[in-house]
Formats: sequence, structure tokens, C-alpha cells
Amino acid sequence: MELTKNSIQTNEKPKAATSSPAVAVPFIDLPLQFANLKAEIDQALAPIFTSAGFIMGPSVKEFEAAFAEFIGAEHCVTVHTGTAALHLALLGLDIGPGDEIITAANSFVATAEAIEFAGARTRLVDVDPETYNLDPRKIEAAITSDTKAIIPVHLYGQAADMKPIMEVAKKHNLKVIEDACQAHGTTYEGVRVGTTGDIACFSFYPGKNLGAAGEGGAIVTNDAALANRIRLLRDHGSQKKYEHEIVGHNFRLDTVQAAILKIKLPHLDKWNKLRQSHARFYREHLTDLKGLTLRPESKYGEHIYHLFVIELEERHRLQEHLQSKGIQSGIHYPIPIHLQKGFAHLGYKTGDFPVSENACGKVLSLPMYPELSTAQLELVVSAVREYFAKLN
Ligand SMILES: *Cc1c(COP(=O)(O)O)cnc(C)c1O
Repeated sequence: MELTKNSIQTNEKPKAATSSPAVAVPFIDLPLQFANLKAEIDQALAPIFTSAGFIMGPSVKEFEAAFAEFIGAEHCVTVHTGTAALHLALLGLDIGPGDEIITAANSFVATAEAIEFAGARTRLVDVDPETYNLDPRKIEAAITSDTKAIIPVHLYGQAADMKPIMEVAKKHNLKVIEDACQAHGTTYEGVRVGTTGDIACFSFYPGKNLGAAGEGGAIVTNDAALANRIRLLRDHGSQKKYEHEIVGHNFRLDTVQAAILKIKLPHLDKWNKLRQSHARFYREHLTDLKGLTLRPESKYGEHIYHLFVIELEERHRLQEHLQSKGIQSGIHYPIPIHLQKGFAHLGYKTGDFPVSENACGKVLSLPMYPELSTAQLELVVSAVREYFAKLN
């Protein structure tokens, strides 16, 4: 329960949420994940505090090497958020005012924010009705003489269809920036996403499949010159202290976060497998429900289930039913980018991207994290089934 402003001011204890029971199945259980790694994390953090090497300590380079190897990329440059990764990917590719960048209408808003803060213009394209990822068939119509790049988003942990996207990009001489912020380990035709395009961006926000104890992000690329330019942009345009080759930002990743990510990375494959196994359980037990839709998995790659998303009409009623059983759920995302107030200047209107709009009105994310127990999965499944039994 959130503290209200009033309860903070008066120093009163927040009122107990009498209407909702104790949480039986949280949406994600980060305290549990950290408890499982506590000894290792404490041990790794101690020397950082002893030396006070909080900025660009050895863990940063070590994690960059490990993450590049995990993805199968030649270079990794860490930054302080996934949004910063997207921003620097654009700046690194020399994208700015006058340029247009194509991305999906159904994504987390950060993708479009990075485009806007790079000074470029966001051109949205609707998503594929099966995967809810950028629809390759609709890209060409959005290309103008100002288009410089495409940003496919690997949404929910499943890859966008990269082959046709790369074909369009090649034909029109466009750069491809993969927004892999929900796709740490997702595969496309047997290869981990992150190296098909020119550059890929990852987020280590705590709730991502690989999450820091705070903010974090990274770019990966096989282009050494691009990686070097981004390394400069991340740290005041500087390689040598107080020598500034270009105008840069301060977008560095903290040493503490790098040390924690380095500990968590070796667990990622196992965690993704557990998520896949939970997804199979949900699928097996929820396929036959009238009124509930499950998206099919794509044939071209492995889904790592950052989110497990179901679809239904009047989802708030199922959400309330789940809440009454102590089961949390989420909506990713309730409003597509083109209908967000902050993006009104793009000039889009309702009806422009019907697949995205339809998805935003129906999607509901069920609890999904590696540590989910069988008992918890069973609770979720029986609560959902109970809801539909009453309905039909
Ligand atoms: C999380 C996320 C981002 C932004 O990452 P932050 O680390 O929160 O800045 C960008 N794009 C997508 C698709 C995301 O899920």
C-alpha cells in the first residue's frame, strides 16, 4: 500500500487496506530474488564501499564484457537507464533534428521519448496482430526522405520479426536500433536478439528479466567506432580526465549496479527457463476459456516472458476478482503512444493504429517471475478459471 501524502505529514500509520487481503501472489517478487542472492551481493559490495570506487570501478568493465558475451556482441557500453541507452544509440548514429525515426505505436513510452530528446521526429507504425511487435508490412508506407532509422521493440520478451525489418531497412538505407529492454536472452532464428540490427538497447530496471538494485541500461553493437562514440557520449565526451573530445552527457552506470548485475547475469538463462515453464503452465490451464485470448508464440524465436499477457473484455473486472484473492496483475500498456497527451504534437488521432488501440484496451499481465511457486501458479489459474466460470 502506498503512503498517502497526508499520512506522511501527520506521521500516522497508513490505514490497513481492509478491502484487499494479504498478497498471495505478487506481480513480481524482487525481495525474494535479492534474499536468494544476499550473501553474494554483500560480499561483492563490501570492497566497493571500502574503496569508495563508486564511479566506473572495475565491475563496470567486467559486467560489460560478460554481458557482451552473453548476447554474443562484440561491444557493450553500460549507461544509467534503458532510456539513456536508446538516447545515446540515436546520438551515436548521428540522428537529430530533421530526421524521422520509425517505431511501434504499442510500446513503453521511453522508445518515443528517446527519439524526441534526440531532436528527431517519431513516426509510429502499427503492430502485428499476432505478436504485437512492429508490423514489417506497414513500415514502408511510413518511410519518407527524412527517415533515418527503425526501432523495433521486442515487446513482452518476444522478438520482433527482424528478417523483413532488416530487408526494408537495407532497401531504404536505414539504421536499425533494437529496443531489447524487455528481451535479455530472447532469440530470433536461434540467435539472441541484440546483434541483428546496428545497435541494441537494454534496460536493467529492477523489474526487467535482468534487473539492477536501481536504474541501469546498456547498448551492445558489433560496430567498434559506434561503441567508442557512445562511450564518449556517456562520460562527458572524455576518455582522459578533463579532456573533452565531444560534448557528452553523464549517463554512466554506477559501480554498485554493475557489481550486482554481474552476480545476477549467470542466473539469467535459468530464470528465463523458469519463466517459460510458468508460461507453459498458464497456457495449459487457460487455453479452453471462452472470452480469454492467449497470443500464440512466434515460430521464429524463443519468448523469455518478461510479461505473460492475456486478453479479454472488461479486464478491470478480472483484475478486481484477482485482487480479492490477493493476486496482483498489471496492464502493459493501457494507452498507446499516439494517444498519450505528451505526444499530441505528433498529430495522430484515435483510429490511426487499430491493432495497438485494440491491444491497449484488452491486455492484462498475470504474475510472472522465476520464483513463482507451483502453489502460486495454481492460485492464479484457479482464480482466473473461477472468474470465467461465473461469467459464462
Ligand atoms: C523498460 C523499457 C525501456 C526503458 O528502460 P529504463 O531503464 O526504464 O529507462 C525502454 N523500452 C522498453 C520497451 C522498456 O520496456
